Amino acid sequence: MSKAIRIHTNGGPEVMKWEDIPTPDPGPGEALIKHEAVGLNYIDVYFRTGLYKAPNMPLIIGQEGAGTVLAVGAGVTNVAAGDRVAYAGPLGGYSTERTLPADRLVKLPDAIDFQTGAAMMLQGMTAQYLLRRTYNVKAGDPIVVHAAAGGVGLIMCQWAKHLGATVIGVVSSEEKAELARAHGAHHTVVGYDTLVADVKRITGGAMVPVVYDSIGKDTFITSLDCLAPLGLMASYGSASGPVPPVDLGLLAAKGSLFLTRPSLNTYVAKLSDLQKTAADLFEVVASGAVKIKVNQTFALKDAAQAHIALESRKTTGSTVLIP
Ligand code: NDP
Repeated sequence: MSKAIRIHTNGGPEVMKWEDIPTPDPGPGEALIKHEAVGLNYIDVYFRTGLYKAPNMPLIIGQEGAGTVLAVGAGVTNVAAGDRVAYAGPLGGYSTERTLPADRLVKLPDAIDFQTGAAMMLQGMTAQYLLRRTYNVKAGDPIVVHAAAGGVGLIMCQWAKHLGATVIGVVSSEEKAELARAHGAHHTVVGYDTLVADVKRITGGAMVPVVYDSIGKDTFITSLDCLAPLGLMASYGSASGPVPPVDLGLLAAKGSLFLTRPSLNTYVAKLSDLQKTAADLFEVVASGAVKIKVNQTFALKDAAQAHIALESRKTTGSTVLIP
């Protein structure tokens, strides 16, 4: 038997139940892994509340982990029993043991421990595609990064600085501003009220070519107003709630803007993209350019406490759940 946090219905943190489940056998193309650490991500909240539709109930939420391969099914050649691995994507993460498609696993370099592996895969690969592919950040670019002291945020600040960008980090408190600055943000703005004016001042009126907005409803229009003509709004999360339907005319009126709602799943759907994205991430972590900050750990069975902390904006950096 294994243990897992399952939800039987959508709702608050209390719907997460710590339950016995039969340990699954790996089918063809699958691997069975034992989790050493599980990543906590805001997307877990969306699946719990129902903002993202559960594919089945009961559902084991969680989309990121690191651990050891226990067994592989027929046809699996990329990993073998005993390998140290990590992944981001397939639901089923809040568990002591799980199966998943083996081609979603990447081998963890020896220098990266399990907690770091579980903390970095989803948030780090997200930072990679946002900074290198959604918009290819170049040296000298001023960019706006929302929730700059959060999990994705601290990685974005460090990586963007490494690329030579000027990072304007947006946060909700002075304490978080200090943390963002310590991790590469050149400028910080607390709250959204003065954001457009601050971006104007910092860029000498030019505004920015890209805004990375993970907040959604509360910041959508403000973020558009931070963009230079032909700028790109990357609306990649909904921490404050989903963005209401958009009048496309707004994009013309505000300067022929581009708008995208990207998702990691699309960017790493092809195996070659997954491998390249993970390799890029491992490289910046190995070189020390990006440090993965695991600022909170919780026992996996206490995942509800972790969700409460994340939703009440009490966490900074990444959070890991320990089975
Ligand atoms: P974070 O650690 O960034 O936590 C969320 C942060 O959002 C909070 O700390 C808070 O920072 C900010 N926030 C602003 N408004 C609210 C609100 N009303 N309620 C709660 N938090 C709020 O989480 P993650 O690093 O896990 O994820 C960051 C974002 O990236 C999420 O929106 C997530 O959905 C998105 N994401 C998207 C992916 C994609 O491919 N599209 C992949 C991975 C993540 P502050 O207090 O400073 O405002």
